Amino acid sequence: GGSGGPPRIRRLEESVVNRIAAGEVIQRPSSAVKELVENSIDAGASTVSVTVKDGGLKLIQVSDDGHGIRCEDLPILCERHTTSKLSAYEDLQTIKSMGFRGEALASMTYVGHVTVTTITEGQLHGYRVSYRDGVMENDPKPCAAVKGTQVMVENLFYNMVARRKTLENSNDDYPKIVDFISRFAVHHINVNFSCRKHGANRADVHSGSTSSRLDAIRNVYGASVVRDLMEIQVSDENAVDEIFKMDGFISNANYVAKKTTMILFINDRLVDCTSLKRATEFVYSAILPQASKPFIYMSINLPPEHVDVNIHPTKKEVSLLNQERIIEKIKDAIEEKLMNCNNTRIFQTQA
Ligand code: ADP
Ligand code: MG
Repeated sequence: GGSGGPPRIRRLEESVVNRIAAGEVIQRPSSAVKELVENSIDAGASTVSVTVKDGGLKLIQVSDDGHGIRCEDLPILCERHTTSKLSAYEDLQTIKSMGFRGEALASMTYVGHVTVTTITEGQLHGYRVSYRDGVMENDPKPCAAVKGTQVMVENLFYNMVARRKTLENSNDDYPKIVDFISRFAVHHINVNFSCRKHGANRADVHSGSTSSRLDAIRNVYGASVVRDLMEIQVSDENAVDEIFKMDGFISNANYVAKKTTMILFINDRLVDCTSLKRATEFVYSAILPQASKPFIYMSINLPPEHVDVNIHPTKKEVSLLNQERIIEKIKDAIEEKLMNCNNTRIFQTQA
């Protein structure tokens, strides 16, 4: 003993481990909203409604009309690593759902108070149950329910003093939440998304459900954006060593904005890709010297074995095989589109 020697190594208590891990998965209110909305989409919902109070610190509520959760699964629903989406590691290669780790709901119960109401098809009533620190607080109570699942998260970060203070003192997360929902709405055009502040009559996002991407963009970002968009498609299907497809809409020379809007889905996952964003902005500033920032929606599809979805706790980044080549191809396509529209611009009449 005494003063000498290195400090002893001890095993952390499980509750400490879980809370630390939860703080990584759920970094802020908007990350909770993203996870909940992804669960609703994974559940096959055609309507997803989000309600938020105090930027999500007081309340986040996500209701959907998806397949619901079986009563007998409710006891383990919010335990760490419980999921209906993955069973073997190899499944990660081909997984279509956005979730796979069974960590999101569990995490929310370690940093907030979670209440789930759910009903499955053919049942006469639903169940409501609350969770804390991964466990059910009471037996599921029978209750009236229409279809699907509602998850309510209250008092997020009540037990993480520093996080709570930082969030309280900075800008409220509501704009970020609206931004997430808007992006999902542009990609999942057949799902009717809405997002509102608690108590507000008007929704700040109301996407409707449509079969046209442009309609979806119009419903969320407005007619003025849609007027200045061009469709773009790139495919590399003839290459021997690589197959990828990109479909999207990009702004033309008439579009004016101070900030880039880049809505990127890779294999149906909403992700960020800084290098693709930079490359795109670079093309715009080179061809359109008046330097308006672009509006970009892109959906890239690759063989699932070319995408590593498991590199980030929030899953917000993915890593791609042949990333440089893909970016190069997309850059070329945008360049060509922009050159063409810039050349024909002088013939356009004012709208
Ligand atoms: P993951 O999505 O990675 O499976 P989650 O913690 O987000 O993990 O959810 C755990 C499980 O709870 C899911 O696998 C799913 O079976 C179920 N679940 C969560 N949200 C919903 C929902 N809105 N509708 C139906 N089932 C849900
Ligand atoms: Mg999930």
